Amino acid sequence: MNILVMGAGQLARMMALAGAPLNLKVTAYDVNSDKIVDPVSNQVFALDLANAVAQADVVTSEFEHIPYPVQEVCQQSGKFFPNSTAIKAGGDRRQEKQLLDAAGVANAGYRIITNESEFYAAISALGLPLVLKSALAGYDGKGQWRLKTAEDAAATWTDIAAFMAGAEHTLPQAIVAEQFIRFDREVSLVGARNAKGETVVYPLTENHHVNGVLSVSMALPAPEDLQQQAKQMFDAVAAKLDYVGVLALEFFQVGDQLLVNEIAPRVHNSGHWTQQGADTCQFENHLRAVAGLPLGSTALVRPTVMVNILGEDHVDAAVLNIPSCHLHWYGKSKRPGRKMGHINVCGQDNAQLADRFLALAALLPTDKFLEVADVAKVFAARHQQS
Ligand code: ATP
Ligand code: MG
Repeated sequence: MNILVMGAGQLARMMALAGAPLNLKVTAYDVNSDKIVDPVSNQVFALDLANAVAQADVVTSEFEHIPYPVQEVCQQSGKFFPNSTAIKAGGDRRQEKQLLDAAGVANAGYRIITNESEFYAAISALGLPLVLKSALAGYDGKGQWRLKTAEDAAATWTDIAAFMAGAEHTLPQAIVAEQFIRFDREVSLVGARNAKGETVVYPLTENHHVNGVLSVSMALPAPEDLQQQAKQMFDAVAAKLDYVGVLALEFFQVGDQLLVNEIAPRVHNSGHWTQQGADTCQFENHLRAVAGLPLGSTALVRPTVMVNILGEDHVDAAVLNIPSCHLHWYGKSKRPGRKMGHINVCGQDNAQLADRFLALAALLPTDKFLEVADVAKVFAARHQQS
């Protein structure tokens, strides 16, 4: 079976690697170069988008910022999973917020802003502090502002107005003003839904961000009630979208309550641990869902930590001396802050994982892997046997 992925980055690459044993052949459409490529070898095929879509059995996506005309070609084919409505909801925070409300899942209070008077109306309605996020093209914390005090409002509006005037979008830009949530931690849920409406979800993953970018994800057995709460929200959102494929929900946890922060209509960075820690990895389950194959078990096989490699193309090979430690490079050229690869480390239990996570952190330079050593220490304090 031939599967065409919109986007030719590491997510398409890891789909291709996971699809090979199932005889699922993955090619990718590079949105930037307008070329059809092999996402592992980067070989370019002499095919245009329309022909590639026509030849594919299934069309899917690895990211949400696909130009609308490209999505239209995919949607028209009748074999685009997840559908264009789901991709658009992931790529536009206005649609995302409306979806969360329509699905009845808790999320941070918000207002949509397009001008100065709406900006001040949002401050009055929601109070301070506020997080302001561009509706379009936001990722990794880009296009975001924090407004803490009324005295800073005028300067923040000046920044936002300049951003909106300078943005090159074919779609109208807007800002979503959101209440600042004082969360206890951030967690995410990755799961899959098939065309029959069946769903499976992985255990909740605890996420640590540095400068708005995911740095560490930890997959441990989650409290049953919290897992249930997340699964209900997942099912509600996925059903509303008639979703097929892997979907990720990012949450703020406040006490025992989850609020959805955002959704990602695709395999997700916080699900990379599933390559070593789950019975079936998220990439295989995504392909199974879109190809109409039975979904695989999402059981946690062993507690696992994932560490992102950001802006570096080398790590000490000694990390491979750590038992159950696996290195995944994406074959990309080095750029500051760029997601270059990740490391998964597993243990039979949390205590063994804590030892190995500490050993891993000790091999990663602290100026390149910001806060990873601190996260490892906190984790060890919680789980290491004394
Ligand atoms: P990505 O797509 O990489 O996950 P993003 O740029 O789409 O990130 P968000 O996930 O919305 O942006 O925000 C980035 C981070 O900023 C969050 O993980 C969280 O730490 C913080 N944040 C976002 N919204 C809020 C909020 N309403 N209250 C408190 N913190 C927030
Ligand atoms: Mg996010």
